Amino acid sequence: MMKELMTITDCRKALCKREISARELTELYLQQIDARDREIGAYLTVCAEKAIQKAKEADSIFTRSADVVSLERNSNTLCGIPYACKDNIVTKGVRTTCASRILQDFVSPYDAAVVERLQSSGAVMLGKTNMDEFAMGSACEHSALGRTVHPLDPARSPGGSSGGSAAAVAAGEAVFALGSDTGGSARQPASFCGLVAMKPTYGLVPRYGLVEFASSMDTICPMTRTVEDNRMVLAALAGADPRDMTSVTPPNEWFEGIKRQSLVPDLKGKRIAMAADISRFCDAATLANTLRAARMLEELGCIVEETELPSPDHALETYVILTAAESSSNLARYDGIRYGTGANGESYREIAGCARTTGFGEEVTRRILTGAYALSAAHGGKYFHKIKNVQRNILHQMDAVMERYDAILMPTTGSVAFPLADGEKTENRYDSDRFTVYANLTGLPALQIPSGGDGKLPTGVSLLGRRFGEVELYRIAQRLEEMLAEKIAEEVTEYGGV
Ligand code: GLN
Repeated sequence: MMKELMTITDCRKALCKREISARELTELYLQQIDARDREIGAYLTVCAEKAIQKAKEADSIFTRSADVVSLERNSNTLCGIPYACKDNIVTKGVRTTCASRILQDFVSPYDAAVVERLQSSGAVMLGKTNMDEFAMGSACEHSALGRTVHPLDPARSPGGSSGGSAAAVAAGEAVFALGSDTGGSARQPASFCGLVAMKPTYGLVPRYGLVEFASSMDTICPMTRTVEDNRMVLAALAGADPRDMTSVTPPNEWFEGIKRQSLVPDLKGKRIAMAADISRFCDAATLANTLRAARMLEELGCIVEETELPSPDHALETYVILTAAESSSNLARYDGIRYGTGANGESYREIAGCARTTGFGEEVTRRILTGAYALSAAHGGKYFHKIKNVQRNILHQMDAVMERYDAILMPTTGSVAFPLADGEKTENRYDSDRFTVYANLTGLPALQIPSGGDGKLPTGVSLLGRRFGEVELYRIAQRLEEMLAEKIAEEVTEYGGV
């Protein structure tokens, strides 16, 4: 049994020194899933056999390498590391459901680009994690296939939509996880569960094989226990893929920066914008811990200045309309013929009607209808065009802020993990995306790290950076992480389940 929750760095050390084999490590995580996941519900599918097979391959790499030093130098830092994959990222031979009835038996004939990349780096996929249906939601409560609870408090939500990925890592059921983030879906659950999540610059990580929600904002994100772990996973995922036309290759310096083991960076003179007017949207602990993070950055030599950002209300409204519009068009393919089975009817209209009515849950239906309305010819698409203009405005304003600052500091989301739904109106959940959507609307990178807790549950803070500014964000966050470690230990209940 593991005594404490392990990071990628811990696992790698143990593997390189041959204190544990990749197979044993994978078995430990599978045992933990067996022991805990009935209660937590992080996984929709566990692929134990495939995982053991992959771990054996990793072991053969470890035994072939002559000595510890050459192993440690090996750039495949993820070799033999067990991870969890959100169930909207397709995996050949392992079902991909998007937590939707309409895809519950869907098995993809190919792997997503990120899965291929992790495969070739030797990482071991343990299974697929629960989420809100088609990634629409903030609490995992819109999954049609399972319920996930917060590892520290079973009466609370792990967040969403990547709630299963967050819960898996927080409960020691995976070393790291892949999530996706269209409006905060990786950062908000990471904040709720005390983890690190990077929403990379749009296009940096190829979306090939990520089931589309709102393609112009969808990103795939590493979710990890530490900043250093996050850097290692992003290094393995980044870079253009010809099968995703929106993917981009960053400048060479980016790759040099991301690969380097971070030195202790000097933050003297770094300019940090602190989002103004956040108190309206935060609970007391989240606010206090965000302000404390700002003070710590000042102690590290940063210049922190309060700065007005584009209206958070406008940002949220823009996000809601744009994603609804894109999703209504993206989800048109689920018609019971191309995707989804078992629908009855004599005509296309009947079959599609039957498949979609029985296949989609309430939240997905709400968004498709909202989106169809925003795009409808009857309105001459005027809502959509208007909202695209507002988005452009937000983008220009944010770019202007980023010209003056190295990063923007803000709470990731306004509260600690909320109680599991009990008749609560789902619309209220949109509020939890108020801060996260800036990064999606603009394509800028944003990094969530734990900022402390309320005495029991974690709070989170985000650093938003320049396009391709991921390395800079990791550097700043790493210093904050060091300074906050003691506080987090005092303010967050320790997970004692392992
Ligand atoms: N909670 C947000 C929503 O419901 C974010 C979703 C996401 O990032 N996939 O739209």
